[in-house]
Amino acid sequence: MAKIRIIGGGLAGCECAFGLARRGHEVELVEMRPDVPTPAHSGGGLAELVCSNSFRSDSETNAVGLLKREMELMGSLVMRIGATVRVPAGDAFAVDRERFSAAMTATIEGEPRIALRREEVRGLERGDADYLVVATGPLTSGALFDAIGGRLGNDGLYFYDAIAPILAADSLDMSKLYWKSRWGKGDGSDYLNAAMTESEYTAFLHALRAAEVYPFHDFENAAHFEGCLPIEEMAARGDDTLRYGPMKPVGLDHPVTGERPYAVVQLRKEDLSDEYFNIVGFQTKMKIPEQKRLLGMIPGLENCSVARWGAMHRNTFINGPRHLTSAFHLKDDSRLFFAGQITGVEGYIESAAVGLLVARYVDEMERTGSVAPLPYHTALGALGRHVAESSPERYQPSNVTWGLIEDRIGKVRMKKEVRRQKQAEIALAQIGSLAAL
Ligand SMILES: Cc1cc2nc3c(=O)[nH]c(=O)nc-3n(C[C@H](O)[C@H](O)[C@H](O)COP(=O)(O)OP(=O)(O)OC[C@H]3O[C@@H](n4cnc5c(N)ncnc54)[C@H](O)[C@@H]3O)c2cc1C
Repeated sequence: MAKIRIIGGGLAGCECAFGLARRGHEVELVEMRPDVPTPAHSGGGLAELVCSNSFRSDSETNAVGLLKREMELMGSLVMRIGATVRVPAGDAFAVDRERFSAAMTATIEGEPRIALRREEVRGLERGDADYLVVATGPLTSGALFDAIGGRLGNDGLYFYDAIAPILAADSLDMSKLYWKSRWGKGDGSDYLNAAMTESEYTAFLHALRAAEVYPFHDFENAAHFEGCLPIEEMAARGDDTLRYGPMKPVGLDHPVTGERPYAVVQLRKEDLSDEYFNIVGFQTKMKIPEQKRLLGMIPGLENCSVARWGAMHRNTFINGPRHLTSAFHLKDDSRLFFAGQITGVEGYIESAAVGLLVARYVDEMERTGSVAPLPYHTALGALGRHVAESSPERYQPSNVTWGLIEDRIGKVRMKKEVRRQKQAEIALAQIGSLAAL
């Protein structure tokens, strides 16, 4: 049996510690709170939910609902305790946050194979442990952040995420959009373009300038955003800033009319599927109703459905595709694992899910010397796919979505809901057969 040191007693760290202890390993779990606080946690409880009390949809045809069912099959502690403190919330799985953290803390403290230590870890030393798991989350403390950054080098670790709205492809009005990469580079099917006339652009600009935005938190210093400005900030800088920036029309003349639009909004495929598009350069702090209003002003996007709203916030995460395998250890060190949001997944459940996976993978590595990550057509496996196989140039944190989950059904035509149901059945059968291993 191995000795594993886990840094961070959040959702991922607790799930991972429990999974390893259950498999007979000795775990040291190190949590810095309450002595060293974070800007968002309120006390010393383990697995504290810092904001909403919702684990989101519980429906199996929703990707995060499927993820929950798979986690249950795999023996997730978060799901087991969550079920005991669940509160009514319609389709959502919501919990009593205080009782959740209290029960998680009591379970971890009561587990004989887990030694819980309260201390800030400032480096990546493994000490006498066989494996190190870093699960310090979006608010990883400064000294450890520096140590991880030093280990990974340039372009290895980020401090913020900046997300543009992500749109469902089947909600776009293709009659108003055209495919083209700037200057015709690439294979021509990487970008969809929404052309704007001068009057459309001017109206859009005015609406952007009037839009309400979320304020920055104290710990989100706006100065950090110079390299990656919110679109509303660009709009405030001058009438043409956007036309010389993300809405630049040069090289994007219309393929049929040959005309150059006054401005262009470009949509880029999300990495791993053709089902979702990202809006290039549209990272934003705008409130959601404002984002909805502004999107409706873009030709072709009038009725778009949004898979994820734009956001910018403090978030520590590794450039997964550059540094991590789909089993969540460093490419150059199979004894140094990362778990939770720091890997570039997002959300309570996704973070816990990675903790669950890492427990399995560390155990497998110890027993067999290698790891077979879960297949990509399961929601759990899809998280590894996102972390390891997204584009390293454009890596941004993501919730689990159907776009990440490999479709094993193929090109058979069927209603989306039916397809999701079938995909869920296939995934659950697969996880069911692996869970016992
Ligand atoms: C302000 C804010 C609001 C959020 N709101 C939501 C929401 O509503 N819904 C949602 O699904 N997700 C939300 N998230 C994201 C959510 O917090 C994460 O998805 C989830 O908590 C990540 O789990 P984790 O285990 O990776 O990290 P955490 O749960 O944050 O756990 C990490 C733990 O590591 C500890 N730690 C950090 N550095 C060190 C160190 N050097 N030494 C020892 N311990 C350390 C921390 O104290 C913490 O306990 C929010 C995040 C933030 C910052």
